[in-house]
Amino acid sequence: MSFSEGSLKQMVTRVAINGFGTIGKRVADAVDAQDDMEIVGVTKTRPSFGCELAVRKGYPLFCTFDGEEKIAAFSDAGYDCKGGLSDLLAICDVIVDCSPGKVGSENLEKYRNAGVKSIFQGGEKHALTEKSYTSSANHSENWGVDCTRVVSCNTTGLSRTLVPIYDAVKETGKISVNSVMIRRAADPGDSSKGPINAIKPVLKVPSHHGPDLMTVKPEIDITSLAVAVPTTIMHLHAITLTLPSGHGLSTEKVLEIWGNTPRVIVMNGSKTRITSTAEVMELARDIGRKWGDLHEIFVWEDGVSLQEDTLYYFQAIHQESDVIPENVDAIRAMMQTEENWKASVEKTDKAISTYYGI
Ligand code: NAD
Repeated sequence: MSFSEGSLKQMVTRVAINGFGTIGKRVADAVDAQDDMEIVGVTKTRPSFGCELAVRKGYPLFCTFDGEEKIAAFSDAGYDCKGGLSDLLAICDVIVDCSPGKVGSENLEKYRNAGVKSIFQGGEKHALTEKSYTSSANHSENWGVDCTRVVSCNTTGLSRTLVPIYDAVKETGKISVNSVMIRRAADPGDSSKGPINAIKPVLKVPSHHGPDLMTVKPEIDITSLAVAVPTTIMHLHAITLTLPSGHGLSTEKVLEIWGNTPRVIVMNGSKTRITSTAEVMELARDIGRKWGDLHEIFVWEDGVSLQEDTLYYFQAIHQESDVIPENVDAIRAMMQTEENWKASVEKTDKAISTYYGI
């Protein structure tokens, strides 16, 4: 039987992006790179350079709002705006909400009314969606759901390295984790945030990151503290993990587990001379990733040590990009197009790598 063009089209998930900022523009490109998805539109709140970017990439441009005046402002500025959010919701299967944190609840109402599936980002609380997502922790629990939240960049980073360790020892007992998040002060494109000359403890203790991991993997007992430092390029985590006695792991075995984990890079700092987040980001630029992104979590091999039941390690997180491929995998879980999380991750990463040139 041969497929008609119409039935082939049905197999491609129609994806909309609401909020074409730091995360939205990256998710759009990652989706655009996949052969089982297409971008049917992206939104901007008002005319700006972001519109130019969308037009150059060939993404249909919509206004975040429905008001006639707001939509008209785009054509007044010379952009072909296809309509408001309602028009975009009428032509998509799933919308990825990449609006600034905490505006999600207003948007969710609109998505539900239109009967469109939605994905939110880590700036929203778990309570909004009552489901959260990372590929390695709970792809199957997000199978067919109408709404989920890809957890924050820090939580995604914790999930990448902790879930495989949890999986390796879960028959022996529980793991418990203390983590310190050393957070970048702002994204490179932000001009309004700080600190610029201080180390600022997050005085809400414990920080939300540990509990947030438990929204995708409640079996991991984890607590966290956070500190903001004057850098724009990465977060760094210092992690201390207690394993159950009789765990059977060694430092070498832990490194082997992470070596076989998708989206984790393990490198020896002394041998490679990659000893700080600055050099990790230089590596990302060297391998030709768009925007100098690094979707993987970077672990320093020589910073990993398992002493009796305690595992110590450092990891670096590129805050603007580790969540990007997770959004693509979350779409496949919600749309029920790939049941196996590892198969989805492989498909996503292959397409992104080809698209991004490495
Ligand atoms: P951003 O400010 O760079 O982009 C947000 C975009 O949404 C802007 O283009 C803005 O004009 C638009 N917008 C404003 N109001 C809107 C509305 N009501 N509806 C739709 N769009 C609206 O923000 P970002 O950094 O891309 O963050 C987006 C989400 O991703 C947040 O939840 C954030 O917490 C999360 N996140 C950010 C990072 C990061 O490092 N930037 C990492 C992981 C997760």
